[in-house]
Amino acid sequence: MLLIDCPHCGPRDEVEFHYGGQAHVAYPEDPAALSDREWAEYLFYRENPKGLYAERWQHSVGCRKWFNAVRDTATYEFLAVYHMGEPSPDLASLAAARASEAGTAPEVPAGSSGTPTSADAPSSPTPQTSAHLGSDRA
Ligand SMILES: [Zn+2]
Repeated sequence: MLLIDCPHCGPRDEVEFHYGGQAHVAYPEDPAALSDREWAEYLFYRENPKGLYAERWQHSVGCRKWFNAVRDTATYEFLAVYHMGEPSPDLASLAAARASEAGTAPEVPAGSSGTPTSADAPSSPTPQTSAHLGSDRA
């Protein structure tokens, strides 16, 4: 099971989400001025990296809101989630932070007792950094 950390709801199962493609693709300022080729490239051409990729996701079965995430396309690991309209985090810094975390035990967030009061309380997700989400699929 892959957990995706909705910035509005917290960690939820991947089946609650829909993928929305590459993030930060700006609508052309003057679409009528574009050639057919430029318009087609805006509509259909997207990056396809192996590695970190900023993409849009919708929590379609939850809050139904769109958000952006940085995901490693090779491992499915989500390294960051952020609201629509916010700039993308620096991908090189995220990659460096992940590399320095490799081999260390997952940290327990401050204020967390580590003992949930109810095992099936969906309204109180366990606080978790996004860097550790999805690591069970790798
Ligand atoms: Zn949500």
